[in-house]
Amino acid sequence: MRIHEITNWAYGLTLVFTGLSAAAFIVSSHSADRERVAVEHHLSLDSLAEELALGADERTNEARLYVMSGEERRLVTFATDEAEEKRLEGTITAIRSLDPSPQEVDLLNSIRRDADVLDTMERQAIQTYQQGDVAKARDTLFGTEHVQLHARFMANVETFRKDTANRTLSAVHDAQFRADFFGLIARILLGATAALFLGVLYFVLRRRVAMPLVKMAAVVRRLARQDYEVEVLPDGRHDEISEMNNALAIFRENGLERERLDAARRAEQETKDLILQMMHRLQACQTRGEVAEMLTRFMPQIFPRLAGHLLLLNDRRTTLRVDASWLEPKRCEDQFELSDCWALRRGHPHVSDVRGGDAQCKHLREGEQEALCVPLSALGDTIGLLYFEEVDGACSSGDISRLYLEMIAENVALAIANLELRERLTDMAIRDPLTGLLNRRSLDEMLNRFADGQGTALACMMLDIDHFKRFNDEFGHDAGDMVMQHVAQIVRESVADRGKVFRFGGEEFTVLCPGMEIEQALDLAEVIRAAVADAPLSHRARPLGRVTMSIGVAQSPGEGPWATLVSRADASLLKAKEDGRNRVRPGREQTVDLAPLVHR
Ligand code: GH3
Ligand code: MG
Ligand code: MG
Repeated sequence: MRIHEITNWAYGLTLVFTGLSAAAFIVSSHSADRERVAVEHHLSLDSLAEELALGADERTNEARLYVMSGEERRLVTFATDEAEEKRLEGTITAIRSLDPSPQEVDLLNSIRRDADVLDTMERQAIQTYQQGDVAKARDTLFGTEHVQLHARFMANVETFRKDTANRTLSAVHDAQFRADFFGLIARILLGATAALFLGVLYFVLRRRVAMPLVKMAAVVRRLARQDYEVEVLPDGRHDEISEMNNALAIFRENGLERERLDAARRAEQETKDLILQMMHRLQACQTRGEVAEMLTRFMPQIFPRLAGHLLLLNDRRTTLRVDASWLEPKRCEDQFELSDCWALRRGHPHVSDVRGGDAQCKHLREGEQEALCVPLSALGDTIGLLYFEEVDGACSSGDISRLYLEMIAENVALAIANLELRERLTDMAIRDPLTGLLNRRSLDEMLNRFADGQGTALACMMLDIDHFKRFNDEFGHDAGDMVMQHVAQIVRESVADRGKVFRFGGEEFTVLCPGMEIEQALDLAEVIRAAVADAPLSHRARPLGRVTMSIGVAQSPGEGPWATLVSRADASLLKAKEDGRNRVRPGREQTVDLAPLVHR
């Protein structure tokens, strides 16, 4: 029940009880009045009856004394005049007005009749005495009839007095009982009103208002401190306090929801920050290895529940191979054909969801995890794939994550494409386009690096194709180019990882072999010379004849200083030419500085 209903009810009941109590007091007071009136009636009746009896008795005595003594003064008292008659009449009338009972009225009538008879007898006796018949007069007043009549009169008066006394007493008792009863009722109702008022006051103020308010105040204090762990107990009542309690519960729910949203927003912001951080690093990567490292470093932080691979296409754009991995993906093959992946076929991200019933990529092993393939494409070219799968079967590649994953894929693709572009540009800057060998600029850079790191052994070979001009002249420049490419290939394969091969210029080549002593260098030069000389050569089905090379070899620091390394090798080459070509000659220390030869 609501508090205002309780107070309304209490107010109504208090009014009713107060009204009833007032009515009971009025009835009680009325009964007290009736009691007082009954007592007054009783006293009046009693005094009137006494007056009646005394009056009648006195008149009888005076009449008797007169007939006995003949004294006239007795007649004065027994004056049967109109006034005396009226006094008796008045007394009886007064008694009647006091509302006597029918029995009392009968008795009063009898008393009146007897009084009249006595009065008549006494008047006749006085008259008889005055006429001289003293004996008769005395017989009349003292005779049996008069005595009996007088005795009956007195007895009736006495009975009347007793009856009225009894009736009055009963009325007094009755009035007293009523006054007491209704007085008690009035007091009980007054007490009940007070108890009701105090009870409602206690119930409403303490149980329904004060105690819940104290509890709510504690809850409000904790909510004000944003402590949403506080428990708001459900209030089964339906009143204003419970409405406030419910409002507090809603406020707490809203607070919790706001905290949840804040936490989600913070987590999303952290994810965005990490993604941004990774993107900045990716754009600054200089090698694919660094790109792979960034992915393995950042991806587990950004998506701790997504394992993944970075797969890159080979140069022929047919096969994908894993380049980087994080959180140990289980379902994806390490190497597979481009056509095995639906995402690469369609050029769009593809979810291989066993439960969803969609097509499964062929590069996936059996498993329950949902797998997502996002193609890496930049500048219109597909360059690889980002592969993701759930770490432990938990669904984590939701819409938002997927958006981020696609954004990351775009960024990774751009970073790799930039690296490839940079590699191509670098290649163009450092390589000779005809032979694919490192160019003269690269040679100078490498020589400078070695010159800075004094102490490391370095062998240098200068190679020149013998009578190259002849090929141009006899077979044309295309044939000359082909010879150049052919020789460059043989030299590269012969040197392999023992050194670097450069196109020095024209039909001359340079080989630098770090850490190589002169003997090994001479051996290698001989191997090269022999390989070139032994290789049959033809152009457009025309045999080109034998191609030979002359090679000069020098070494530093064992065989001479760094500054003269190339010039010494060049001088050795000249020596080889002079000695008849198709031969190898070691360099030796020159007294004349031939450094300018390096820069011809
Ligand atoms: P030697 O044995 O004394 O070295 O005689 P050689 O003919 O090889 O030397 P020479 O310096 O007289 O001639 C080199 C020629 O190589 C001159 C030039 O036209 C030719 N040549 C230089 N660069 C290229 C090239 O890239 N392609 C072609 N086809 N010819 C080139
Ligand atoms: Mg030459
Ligand atoms: Mg030559």
